[in-house]
Amino acid sequence: MLKFCTLFSGSSGNSTFIGTDRAKLLIDAGVTAKSIEQELRLIEEEPGDLDAILITHEHIDHVKGAGVLARRYGTKIAANSRTWHAMEALVGRIDPENRIVTDDTAGCLYIGGLDISSFPIPHDAADPVGYTVSDGKHKITVATDTGSLSDSLLEHLEGSNAVLIEANHDMYMLEHGPYPRVLIARIKGKHGHLSNLSCGELASKLASQGTRAIILGHLSKENNVPDVAYGTVRRAMEEAGVKIVDYADVIPPDFFGQAGHPGNDGVSQPEAGLIVAPRYGHSKVILL
Ligand SMILES: [Zn+2]
Ligand SMILES: [Zn+2]
Repeated sequence: MLKFCTLFSGSSGNSTFIGTDRAKLLIDAGVTAKSIEQELRLIEEEPGDLDAILITHEHIDHVKGAGVLARRYGTKIAANSRTWHAMEALVGRIDPENRIVTDDTAGCLYIGGLDISSFPIPHDAADPVGYTVSDGKHKITVATDTGSLSDSLLEHLEGSNAVLIEANHDMYMLEHGPYPRVLIARIKGKHGHLSNLSCGELASKLASQGTRAIILGHLSKENNVPDVAYGTVRRAMEEAGVKIVDYADVIPPDFFGQAGHPGNDGVSQPEAGLIVAPRYGHSKVILL
């Protein structure tokens, strides 16, 4: 069984947990090691049990606590070579045996029964990636900091049973908010961040193809609020004919389907759970 939740999400820091009985992973560690330790314990995981921290890109909101965790627990850090180069000063000294250098932009790893692969995402960093993690039965994909919806991105998200995708900003709030024009242009650009509307389009597409759990993350502090992100994406999904199920409801064992056949059969109305990742503290834990 795969356990999946965000621990922290947003420009103030990102970290996502994916684990089984045999393997425990973090995707990014963008807050202090202490905060991550505390949050892991709240979902009944021990920081010392972590096998690896997979880094998406070198921005501080993704790497802040990685070095300390690696030194404190001997946790391995995995990133591609350009990202390693760019984050060297931020993570500090890492023992050679704890450094995993993945192939550039399309690396594959196998850790404790989990197949992990990375894929390029459009973002203004050295060599940014998203990650797909599969236990052979279910597939989870994490892709935040996505400036635009490239074909490669869609290809990797498709067929996922559960995803973490970005709902960064509400377009109106961004355009009427405190940011200078040049920053607004960067965020809206191809290598910036995804708006709630574009996220809604993506979420609808994924749910129609079978994705059953969608976590919205990396919300902007200045240009978004959880209710607006949730509302915009939910509306887009409902307009596309997707039924939103509440995670408070009991989820039947076959809700998530199998890897490659994520659960919605293309005949009956597609159903998906939709949650917003809190900025601080873990999201609802998804078991699949
Ligand atoms: Zn970034
Ligand atoms: Zn970020």
